[in-house]
Amino acid sequence: MAKTIVQNGAEVLREIAAEVPYEEITSPKIQKVLSDMKEALEGERDGAAIAAPQIGVPLRIFIVSKRVLRKNEEDMEAKDMVCINPVLSRLSRKKEPKDEGCLSVRGYYGHVPRANRATIEAYNEYGKRFTRGASELLAQAFQHEMDHLDGILFIDKATEVWETKPEEEKAPE
Ligand code: ZN
Repeated sequence: MAKTIVQNGAEVLREIAAEVPYEEITSPKIQKVLSDMKEALEGERDGAAIAAPQIGVPLRIFIVSKRVLRKNEEDMEAKDMVCINPVLSRLSRKKEPKDEGCLSVRGYYGHVPRANRATIEAYNEYGKRFTRGASELLAQAFQHEMDHLDGILFIDKATEVWETKPEEEKAPE
């Protein structure tokens, strides 16, 4: 059975998530969190990314689905991107309103001002530090997921929010 995704109203979505101690990244406990997150993300037809608080775990981890990476970079071999203790190291100054949804705010979409380009630094699931620059959907996902780790939902930043019928739903993050 697919993992339950925590919905808006839950306290865990409003907490500042805690850093993962470096030496725990490869521990069974954290690896289990990662596999639970992947399972939850996999269970969502068009899920773009997921943050640990969305499965009830207040830790600074998010995972971007390989579906986004394949769409963004046309890299059919791309795997899910695990980002542990991520920081946004660069953000382009120019922001544009983007269509955005969230697996934790079902049935709603909005226009959210997002920087066109973003760079993150993070650890992967093996504890290796990496830097990744992104544009378009991937840059938007980085910003959306970083917000989750600080207790922020897209509806807090949206200039406009609207309700969608289930059949219209697309690419929630
Ligand atoms: Zn979200």
